[in-house]
Amino acid sequence: MSMSKEIILEEAEKHNVKFIHLQFVDILGTLKNVAITVDQLPDALDGEIMFDGSSIEGFSRIQESDMYLNPDLDTFTIFPWENGHGKVARLMCDIYTPEGEPFAGCPRSTLKNVIAEAEEMGYSMHAGPEPEFFLFKLSENGEPTTITHDKGGYFDLSPVDKGESARQEISIALEEMEFEVETSHHEVASGQHEIDFKHTDVLRTADNIATFEFVTKKIARDHGLHATFMPKPIEGINGSGMHVHQSLFEDGENIFYDPDDELGLSQEAYYYMGGLLEYAPEFAAITNPTINSYKRLVPGYEAPVYVAWSSRNRSALVRVPAARGQGTRVELRNPDPSSNPYLAMAVMLKAGLTGIKNEIDPGSETVENIYNLCDEDREEKGIPSLPGNIKEAVEELKQSELMEEALGDHIYNMFIRAKELEWNDYKKQVHSWEIDTYLRKY
Ligand code: GLN
Ligand code: MG
Ligand code: MG
Ligand code: MG
Repeated sequence: MSMSKEIILEEAEKHNVKFIHLQFVDILGTLKNVAITVDQLPDALDGEIMFDGSSIEGFSRIQESDMYLNPDLDTFTIFPWENGHGKVARLMCDIYTPEGEPFAGCPRSTLKNVIAEAEEMGYSMHAGPEPEFFLFKLSENGEPTTITHDKGGYFDLSPVDKGESARQEISIALEEMEFEVETSHHEVASGQHEIDFKHTDVLRTADNIATFEFVTKKIARDHGLHATFMPKPIEGINGSGMHVHQSLFEDGENIFYDPDDELGLSQEAYYYMGGLLEYAPEFAAITNPTINSYKRLVPGYEAPVYVAWSSRNRSALVRVPAARGQGTRVELRNPDPSSNPYLAMAVMLKAGLTGIKNEIDPGSETVENIYNLCDEDREEKGIPSLPGNIKEAVEELKQSELMEEALGDHIYNMFIRAKELEWNDYKKQVHSWEIDTYLRKY
């Protein structure tokens, strides 16, 4: 719905909205809130609410700490619960400098810049994400554990327990917020769930993912559970990915479809895929940004490890789902839900557009299960690997002119710095695996 200030003020009054969360994400994708009362809403809608950016990770230097929140009116959404005083609504915001310029450290503005580039080429990108997550029990002190509560399996039909009802309530809440939920189901692992969003324009998709994680955590808590989007909470079972289905539209038509092609894909679709494959190692640090992300990207758990595409098998990095016509799309399978949704969408779109501009050939599809190919076979077929850890991924990112262009200097440099600190902290740790393996042996 296209919103105006007047409509928002009316809606807020009509639905007894008392608080508004002015939301944005920092560079690492953490959702931030500046909460205001409804009395301040007219000022907020005029972009007059200020906050101190210096306290926020990766934001600004002390001398430019005053930042303005510029809400996107179309994101006005009322949460379907009350907080005792009335309802709470959210508005997603862009961060502006006191000079009235979009702030270079604002991930939402970064995505908008890449969207503008797509628009110059005549395209608008649609994205449909499939975030997966675990619901874990809380300990007696209310701390999250990694203990699951259910015995459910993939697409189990009977609602077995409270995880199931929590997920149903999450879906209902999202629908009440007018997010289009396509499906929601139990995932492969015990305690693991997935909620799929219907594809829509990529900015809206990123906004919805940011809010969805917050809603999911809240409703899980209400059920006495902890929702986690950590990519691989338990060794030896499936991790949580966030596959992203992507397509380009021109004048309302999906341009990835070509009925005359053997696979029903247009030249643009092949080139877009070529761009995703070419740049995946360079953008992995963004789509898979944590130490833990790389514990998921190992063979055997339906997560990609190697850079290849396929129209059928799920071991490939890019899969082409069966739908054609307006539903024609490619599915990128490495992203995980610990990524900043704005930056993840920005780098994928940038890679795909570059594929089209530079006519990057994706090569032929890989039909066999890639997990089963030995190193020599993969080398012969020219199938490279994704980075093996965040350190390797950051090294790739540091070499990438395209990613520097996509992210802008500020975010690019801040992100690299944050990830290098994270790695340096991690590498000093003594892991329980080392104790188990070495303590008795040496
Ligand atoms: N959990 C798997 C992953 O990490 C995906 C499983 C599926 O959706 N089929 O990507
Ligand atoms: Mg799915
Ligand atoms: Mg899944
Ligand atoms: Mg999928």
